[in-house]
Amino acid sequence: MRSAAETQAIIQALAHQHPDADTELHYRSAFELLVATILSAQATDAGVNKVTPALFARFPDARALSAAAAEDVERLIHSTGFFRQKARALMGMSRALVERHAGEVPRTMDALVRLPGVGRKTANVVLGHALGVPGLPVDRHVLRVSNRLGIAESDDPDRVEQQLTGALPPAVWTRASDILILHGRRVCKPEPQCGQCAAVDACAFYAEASAVPAPPPSRAPTRRERANAPRGTAKPAKAKAAKAKAAKKAPPRRRR
Ligand code: SF4
Repeated sequence: MRSAAETQAIIQALAHQHPDADTELHYRSAFELLVATILSAQATDAGVNKVTPALFARFPDARALSAAAAEDVERLIHSTGFFRQKARALMGMSRALVERHAGEVPRTMDALVRLPGVGRKTANVVLGHALGVPGLPVDRHVLRVSNRLGIAESDDPDRVEQQLTGALPPAVWTRASDILILHGRRVCKPEPQCGQCAAVDACAFYAEASAVPAPPPSRAPTRRERANAPRGTAKPAKAKAAKAKAAKKAPPRRRR
């Protein structure tokens, strides 16, 4: 895995490529960002931004949303998918905010992840963007891009969060996540556009993918390889045995 200095240099290179990196969710408060982030599961940010203005106009805070009728919330968020589960999560989260935090969004990871429907990724989004508390959200883009670059080594988002936050100063955690997410959306997609990548020279995945494969070590062909070889290039064991047998049966040469 890359050193902390290398990780910082890679993030800096990508920061120049994506100076506009930021969350694409629209919000005016920590509560609105919390709601929008919960809605963004299995949905695009643009799709969430389409439904939140009407949702926030009708239910502007945790108290209003906690007292909502489920059907009203479901109708307003229907197009984001999984609307029943999401409505339940939003109303449960809002009730917990009212009961435990006087309707305010708490400023700590521990308190945030105790809210219904809130995991570390959502908590880090809210901490980093709306509350000014360093947080590094790890989504599927951050996972893919950081592993390819070699600045993280794990499929586990919590582990990748630890590795990246261990290498980067807290002041850049949230921005680093935004940069990696945008890079994953625009350039380092599942089918990566390496020719357009500012970090190509430092990328472990690119180095491995573009390396010339070494020739196989010289050795005798296996039985299967001999059997599959084009005719005339190998002598199967059966043919050899038949030839030896025929030679034995041949009449002895006449002496002169
Ligand atoms: S070089 Fe290619 S694989 Fe590596 S980070 Fe850039 S786009 Fe992704």
